[in-house]
Amino acid sequence: MVRTYDFGEADRIVVLLSREEGLIRAVAKGVRRAKSRFGSRLQPFVELDVQLYPGRNLALITQADTVAYFASGLIDDPRRFTSACAVLETAEALAQAHEEPALFDLAKRSLTQLREAEDPYAPLDTFLLQAMELAGWGMSLFECAQCSSKGPHHAFHAAAGGAVCVHCRPPGSRDVDPEVLHVMWLLANGADASQLNTPQRAAMVHQLTRSYLQWHLERKLKSLQVLEEV
Ligand SMILES: [Zn+2]
Repeated sequence: MVRTYDFGEADRIVVLLSREEGLIRAVAKGVRRAKSRFGSRLQPFVELDVQLYPGRNLALITQADTVAYFASGLIDDPRRFTSACAVLETAEALAQAHEEPALFDLAKRSLTQLREAEDPYAPLDTFLLQAMELAGWGMSLFECAQCSSKGPHHAFHAAAGGAVCVHCRPPGSRDVDPEVLHVMWLLANGADASQLNTPQRAAMVHQLTRSYLQWHLERKLKSLQVLEEV
C-alpha cells in the first residue's frame, strides 16, 4: 500500500505496490463509512492481500485482508516516519518507470528495518541505492562514469553518473573521500559496510544518494524535502 486519496463521498482511491504487477490503482467503494468491512485496513504501511475486480480505469477492491502491519514503530518517530514515506514514494516513482518484481520485497525489508533503526538514514540509503540498481539507474562508484578509468576516484557528479576522474570531472563536481564511494558500492550490492562506515561518511552517502536520485527523478520527492527539515 503506497498511498490513498479520498474520492467522492465515501470512496477511497488507493495506490498499491504489488509484487507481481507493479503499481495498481484501485477504488474501494464506501470504505469511509463506519460500517465498512475493510476500510480501516487501507492505509499506508500495511501489507494487504486484496481481491480486485478489473475496471476500465481503476480496479475495484472487493476484499482486503491484512498480511502485515508496519506502522507501529514508524509513526511515532518523525525521522523513521519520513524515511519510511521516502521509501514508499521512491518505490512508487521507480515502479512507474520500471516494472521490477524485486522492488516489493526490497521495500518491505526496508520498512521492517526502519521500524527498529536508531539511524533511519542507513536503511533508507540502502533502499535507495539498491532500488536504483534494480531500476537500471545504478551509478558508477569505482570506475569513472565518463571514461571508465579504474578508481578509486575523488569526485562525484550526479548528472555525469557518479564517480568521475580528475580528467573528466565536470564543473560542480563534489570532492569525495573515495571510501564514501566504497561504502555506497557495498550498500548498493547488498554487502555489509559497517566496518567502513562512520557517521561522517554516512552523512555524505545520504547527500550523494539523494542528489543522484533527485537528478534521475527530475523532480524533488516530497518526503526527501521533509527529511532535510527534520
Ligand atoms: Zn574519466
